[in-house]
Amino acid sequence: MVARVAQQGVRDDTVLAALGAVPRHLFLESGLASQAYIDASLPIGYHQTISQPYIVARMIEIMRNASSLNRVLEIGTGCGYQAAVLSLVAKEVYSIERIKALHDLAKNNLRPMRIANIRLHYGDGMLGLPQLAPFDGIILAAAGMEVPQTLLQQLRIGGRLIAPVGGKNQVLQLIERVSNHDWTSTVMEQCHFVPLRQGVI
Ligand code: SAH
Repeated sequence: MVARVAQQGVRDDTVLAALGAVPRHLFLESGLASQAYIDASLPIGYHQTISQPYIVARMIEIMRNASSLNRVLEIGTGCGYQAAVLSLVAKEVYSIERIKALHDLAKNNLRPMRIANIRLHYGDGMLGLPQLAPFDGIILAAAGMEVPQTLLQQLRIGGRLIAPVGGKNQVLQLIERVSNHDWTSTVMEQCHFVPLRQGVI
């Protein structure tokens, strides 16, 4: 799986090593575990999916930009897979999920792995975690029509946010905070994610 992701263009060895170190089958129900190492998104219940390994690696590579990350925020924990990958490339990982049942699923999936640097939050990720800002990196695992302004404010100057943006046709958007009041935005490639939704359930 890692070799295929590298073939598709992910070059960052730190990210590829992290991808190779996280057992993806442990984040899937047993009926799907045999498909864990094909490069595809798969259902995790509640109309949500575990992201495709390629896109997980690509987004982390773009956010990391070959530098070391201290504090990272993920919006959309889902089953906790990407949070586990992030825990190997960042000092502190905070991840928010709006569906209680998935927040609980991620907790159960991650507990046996004893990862000390992940904190899971149940809540609306569109609000971010202002009490823990600023973040070196912010990664969205669900697509909105635009990136919430609140999250841009929680980015450290010099920090990078990566997010899928759009409805039916989505693109990966990289946003860099260049000063207190300025952000730059770059469209990276096409992608396909579940929608970003407001509020909690
Ligand atoms: N990171 C996951 C991907 C999960 S799919 C992985 O490792 O595979 C995206 C998740 O985003 C879903 O679980 C969905 O419920 C969640 N989500 C959507 N809108 C959200 C919001 N406003 N706040 C937090 N989570 C949200």
